[in-house]
Amino acid sequence: MKIQRWALILVGVVVLVAFSAGAALAAQGVAAAARGIGGARQPAVVAELTPAEAAGLLLMREEEKLAHDVYVTLYDQRNLSIFQRIANSESAHTSAVKTLLDRYGLTDPVGDNAVGVLENDELQALYDQLVAQGSASLEGALRVGAAIEEIDILDLQEEMALTDKADILRVYQNLLNGSTSHLRAFVSTLERQTGEAYEPQYMTQAAYEGIIGASSGGNGGRGGGNGGGNGGGRGGR
Ligand code: MN
Ligand code: MN
Repeated sequence: MKIQRWALILVGVVVLVAFSAGAALAAQGVAAAARGIGGARQPAVVAELTPAEAAGLLLMREEEKLAHDVYVTLYDQRNLSIFQRIANSESAHTSAVKTLLDRYGLTDPVGDNAVGVLENDELQALYDQLVAQGSASLEGALRVGAAIEEIDILDLQEEMALTDKADILRVYQNLLNGSTSHLRAFVSTLERQTGEAYEPQYMTQAAYEGIIGASSGGNGGRGGGNGGGNGGGRGGR
């Protein structure tokens, strides 16, 4: 009987020690969190999106899919590697936006939709128009690529002005950097393969030259330009 009693006391002590150690650890964790040194802890509750931020993420998720789908389709037609390479980049872009949709609890408009299927009617109409234009010729295909990148740049800039959330801005900036380099790639490929000059279709001449001039530098002889662009992007949604 004596042994049993000691055993019980021992169990009690162990439980007590374990409990207080746990409590101490928990208290430490709370203190660390309170001091903000808990490492890269994700907040349990993410900030609420404004309606504009939510609409922007839904648009960009599908706009990146549109780019991907057009390039995949044009690659199938022309077997030109630039379309495959940039389609891969667009696939990463649309996934990056999907991560934000998940984080903020938004329903993904893409789901299992096939290539060429978009929920946003405006993007669907744009997709149909761009594939028709791009299918006509090599020149048409490369101009369509550049047009998509111009639209993407304008829309990303617009969305970036509508949010101050660091995680969203980080993704948009990354997409914007991609679009800038894609625009340069389509323009230089067009000029090299067809000998045709490219003038911006959506951006202002000044904004376009700001992007193209930033890296290529050497083609200052083209001159002229169309002066205005059409200034407006695609208009509202
Ligand atoms: Mn992109
Ligand atoms: Mn792109």
